[in-house]
Amino acid sequence: MTQETGGFAALDLNPNIVAAVLATGYEEPSAIQQQSIPIILAGHDMIGQAQTGTGKTAAFALPILNKIDVSKREPQALILAPTRELALQVATAFETYAKQMPGVNVVAVYGGAPMGPQLRAIRNGAQIVVATPGRLCDHLRRDEKVLSTVQYLVLDEADEMLKLGFMDDLEVIFDAIPASRQTVLFSATLPSSIRSIAERHLREPKHVKIQSKTQTVTAIDQAHLMVHADQKIPAVLRLLEVEEFDALIAFVRTKQATLDLAAALEAKGYKAAALNGDIAQNQRERVIDSLKDGRLDIVVATDVAARGLDVPRITHVFNVDMPYDPESYVHRIGRTGRAGREGRALLLVTPRERRMLQVIERVTGQKVAEARLPNAQAVLDARIKKLTASLAPLVAEAEATHGELFDRLTADLGCSARALASALLRKATNGQALDLPSVEREQPLVPSFAPRGERTERGERSDRGGDRERRAPMPLAEGRVRCRTALGARDGIAAKNLLGAILNEGGLARDAIGRIQVRDSFSLIELPEDGLERLLTKLKDTRVAGKQLKLRRYRED
Ligand code: ADP
Ligand code: MG
Repeated sequence: MTQETGGFAALDLNPNIVAAVLATGYEEPSAIQQQSIPIILAGHDMIGQAQTGTGKTAAFALPILNKIDVSKREPQALILAPTRELALQVATAFETYAKQMPGVNVVAVYGGAPMGPQLRAIRNGAQIVVATPGRLCDHLRRDEKVLSTVQYLVLDEADEMLKLGFMDDLEVIFDAIPASRQTVLFSATLPSSIRSIAERHLREPKHVKIQSKTQTVTAIDQAHLMVHADQKIPAVLRLLEVEEFDALIAFVRTKQATLDLAAALEAKGYKAAALNGDIAQNQRERVIDSLKDGRLDIVVATDVAARGLDVPRITHVFNVDMPYDPESYVHRIGRTGRAGREGRALLLVTPRERRMLQVIERVTGQKVAEARLPNAQAVLDARIKKLTASLAPLVAEAEATHGELFDRLTADLGCSARALASALLRKATNGQALDLPSVEREQPLVPSFAPRGERTERGERSDRGGDRERRAPMPLAEGRVRCRTALGARDGIAAKNLLGAILNEGGLARDAIGRIQVRDSFSLIELPEDGLERLLTKLKDTRVAGKQLKLRRYRED
């Protein structure tokens, strides 16, 4: 173990839990974890307010795992989440954190799946139940005693649950759990409806609010790009083609991510290395020295590992994974623009992280402009520019040393000067794509999203552009398929209507739905392949703008 592991180890958690957390690659607790875990461990009710992506799941999951009695095979903790997707995420997180605690059973309970197996899993000894409120109430109607042993109740994303109309279900659930329970409520916002729930159902709750102080940012050129989580590496590779950087630091959240990105960069020929808490201190110093003197150009680091890193050569900071809070954003981007030099900071934002971007903008008092991924033409231009720059100094002097050889070779080969120069270029560029069709083939467009503030949902706008690259079929993110409906703009359909219908009637999480393209006489929607049949069955009778949706899988080519 390295010295930074003190963070989790100092929290008074069972060593098996700490070990599992460190094994997943977390290096230290986030702010909400640091503050909530001791309160929950001490048995207090709690209200936690923090944005998406601040690490709320572990903030309640770790202390709850610490509290449950593994030898008792009955429900002890109930976590309520707004959607099936979030319930599954939370259940998976619990399983990860409980990897080294044999005998812990977690069951996820949500609509759209048969009830029998869920009820059996609960009765067969699950200590932790993660549920959406609607489906849980269905179970309560069949067996009102099913929650009678629960001692810990968590409402995750309480504001979202209320927005989805689960208020009445929550009241039913509160009533079905012993009053002696400990209750913890997490929410990004605390509207009066949530406060009133807390007044009625929580006992002297402690408040934890992860609030951000205003920060000042020096002269750093900042931009953000919207990307899907699984497209981050291709997006980084593409950005590096056009960004003129000297040294660059890329921030990610986990050890594994440092290794993955550093490997992808090395494979493309960059002088890159990973920096994380697993790497011994002396080795870390060597990496930083290499970045200082140019043996390395890119370091991929976690926040912890990059602590104290001060390298004046750094011209760029890439925030590949979102920082936990605005302070850490400001801290990260402060690694560039040192000593009065210009610096540039890019932030990759996935759809569910939009709110964090807004918080960063509010706290820093600056707008972080939206940038677009460079298209194939821009990549090509950048490559030719680099090639030109590398040849320029040679053109002035190589003729004196190699001119005669050139004449001899043209004569021997019986070819034109242009033919020979072309052959030499091909050799010198070593297979690199240097014409537009080749670059396009090599770099499929990374799907991105419509800029904020657009009326339409999800990428609709990006199809109206005229350039050729945007017209090419968009590659699908892994695990997604395209579905088609015969409803389109001429039926008065907008992307947000389709999104709303699928969210409401399909029970999907927002992030599960990819791009929606509304054309005149039809629309295409990207949906998860997993569970598609069931989803389409559920949407069988759905109507949008008064017309039947009739969604079908769409097979291109
Ligand atoms: P929230 O519920 O606040 O939106 P999550 O609990 O879903 O946030 O966590 C967001 C992401 O951060 C997840 O991918 C999670 O694995 C990761 N994460 C959480 N805590 C840590 C930590 N201490 N160190 C590194 N990554 C973490
Ligand atoms: Mg969450």
